[in-house]
Amino acid sequence: MKIAILGSGISGLSVAQMLNKEHEITVYELKPKIGGLIKCERINDCLFHKVGGHVFNAKNPKVQEWFWSFFDKENEFIKARRNAKVYFNGQIIGYPIENYLYLLPQNDVADILNELLGLEKYKKKLPNDYENFEEFLKGNFGEKLYNLYFNPYNTKIWNTDLSQVPMEWLEGKLPMPSLNEIILNNVLRKEEEDMVHSYFYYPKENGSQFIVDRLSKGLNIITNFNSENIKVDINNKIVIENSEVFDKVIYTGDIRKLPIYFRSIMESNNYWDEIQSLKSNGTSNLFCETDDGNISWLYLPESFTKAHRIIYTGNFSDSNNRGSNRKTCVVEFSGKVSYETMLDEIKLLPGNLKALSYNYEPNSYIIQSKNTRSVIKDLKEVLEMKNFYLLGRFAEWEYYNMDKAIEAAQALSKRI
Ligand SMILES: Cc1cc2nc3c(=O)[nH]c(=O)nc-3n(C[C@H](O)[C@H](O)[C@H](O)COP(=O)(O)OP(=O)(O)OC[C@H]3O[C@@H](n4cnc5c(N)ncnc54)[C@H](O)[C@@H]3O)c2cc1C
Repeated sequence: MKIAILGSGISGLSVAQMLNKEHEITVYELKPKIGGLIKCERINDCLFHKVGGHVFNAKNPKVQEWFWSFFDKENEFIKARRNAKVYFNGQIIGYPIENYLYLLPQNDVADILNELLGLEKYKKKLPNDYENFEEFLKGNFGEKLYNLYFNPYNTKIWNTDLSQVPMEWLEGKLPMPSLNEIILNNVLRKEEEDMVHSYFYYPKENGSQFIVDRLSKGLNIITNFNSENIKVDINNKIVIENSEVFDKVIYTGDIRKLPIYFRSIMESNNYWDEIQSLKSNGTSNLFCETDDGNISWLYLPESFTKAHRIIYTGNFSDSNNRGSNRKTCVVEFSGKVSYETMLDEIKLLPGNLKALSYNYEPNSYIIQSKNTRSVIKDLKEVLEMKNFYLLGRFAEWEYYNMDKAIEAAQALSKRI
């Protein structure tokens, strides 16, 4: 078949590689550069992850097998230890915070423990047994820890009312430590390294741009594409730019911005209002030099700063700092924050940060509401009858990481 793939992020590139052997594939990308959220740029020969700092980790053996068939794990990647920390009360403490209660002010710890003991009886079995994210956090960690940490941090990052966040959205992503575990981890002073998911993989050279470059090899990719030039002919074939005729099209862009022809299907099926009301957050990223250290992520829950996280990309691979005699990192802010404001904000943060560059990505975090999953599921069925498929974080409106995007690409390519 002739198949067009709209979008060259990890979803588009992965599904293109999966289908390329048996079908004739063309990848169309809206932007001048391929890679979507995972593209990077070198600034003074230091590596700037333009959105966050992407590391690879996959639980699914099929995803691992597929991914590593493109790379030499030993020679091209670094296996690194997660070393996440929380900046709280002017000190750097471990992550997750509930394992480091012994480092919090004594009065707070007494209140937190009292609450945790009281909650144990009422605790529900599974995350999905709670109505919403706020109820989940309060039900597992108590009001005090919710107010001190979980609420300010999550509100900053999601910029939304946590009581409106449905639990299905966070399925499989939320830990539910028992009181026993919390107490044991505090008494035994257990470090994050001892726990599961303590490792990740990271390319030795060029970060996630290395993944983009490798996965784009051998593909026919057209950049600067205007997807409004898509029509469907009488035989249900999809015609792009009046000349190329495709049997199927896979769309990995924003569901709210489907090409016009397919948008009209949405309008006639009453999905339009629901899809248009979907909310997402952007992120502003300030690329900085920083003092030396060994942290991978530093979470910033408190409201003294608008920033919510520092990603020490310079600690992922030395080659990321090639153009500087200091380490580099990315300071992440939710939403659109001006360059001047970010410069003021980094004066409040540890590490003697010095700005090198910045980027604003309008679409980075998706927010689901109660009906989102079922609406997208129905919409997918209607569109697939027209040979048009949705794939990826913004087309399926799922909180995918790279491994989950690859897993979804595997399922779709199998179906196709
Ligand atoms: C701050 C942050 C940190 C993250 N960290 C990690 C991490 O460490 N590890 C991890 O595994 N995941 C991480 N993720 C998640 C990861 O970024 C996403 O899962 C992944 O990049 C999504 O890829 P995608 O291809 O679905 O979407 P995108 O990367 O958005 O790609 C979609 C592409 O489609 C193009 N496009 C849009 N509309 C059209 C159109 N009409 N025609 C043609 N092209 C179009 C876009 O320009 C874009 O290039 C992180 C995400 C964020 C926001």
